[in-house]
Amino acid sequence: MLVGLRQVFLRFHGCNLACAYCDTRETHQSPPPDFCDREETPGRRDFTSIANPIDIQTLREVLVRWVYRHPGIHHSISLTGGEPLLHGETLVEWLPVLRSVLPVYLETNGTLIPELSRCIDFFDHISMDVKLPSSSGLDDLWERHRSFLSIACRKNVFVKIVVGAATQLSEIARTCDLITSVDKCIPLVIQPMTGASGEIAVSSSSLLAYQEYAGACLHEVRIIPQTHKFLRML
Ligand code: SF4
Repeated sequence: MLVGLRQVFLRFHGCNLACAYCDTRETHQSPPPDFCDREETPGRRDFTSIANPIDIQTLREVLVRWVYRHPGIHHSISLTGGEPLLHGETLVEWLPVLRSVLPVYLETNGTLIPELSRCIDFFDHISMDVKLPSSSGLDDLWERHRSFLSIACRKNVFVKIVVGAATQLSEIARTCDLITSVDKCIPLVIQPMTGASGEIAVSSSSLLAYQEYAGACLHEVRIIPQTHKFLRML
């Protein structure tokens, strides 16, 4: 929903799921690495290796320096992963500090309900995945997603589904039922599986059919591919 805006990415290690299309395989490495990458200048890929995990004071200093030297560039801080909500203890400590610098945007797989409840007051935007069994290869998570969304709707939330060649219209219908059971004004983003070079794994006719079906149920339905791959910002 914020496509085209720039964000600071904070990437958290580890995930409680194992999606077939996961493009952050290193997040499943155990134990976590001793070092992580820190970009010194926004967008320049001049990474240095520092001890993992970073401490919150160092992190705050980096963020404040970026905001001071590059005013107006970043819309928000994106917490991504892996699954950021796996790090509940850390988030409780970090979120008030992060939010004092920039708005906070959570990117989540939409399954860790107690952890969301604990931290929800500190999020400004939530991008919540609904995992379709056809594309993710995961078991049925519908009821967990519904419980999660019923809490996340207190914030500026949207739902994202990744669709692939095997996706069924019945899964789109079930996603629409899930969203309308909470609030039909919550936007839905349909994201086609996108290869490393930007190739789309779903026919345009299927994408349009999904949007037409969902558009009859929900207020706002967008088709958005993984734009960073088209722009070669990997
Ligand atoms: S939820 Fe995200 S990080 Fe976790 S396995 Fe799925 S795609 Fe990978």
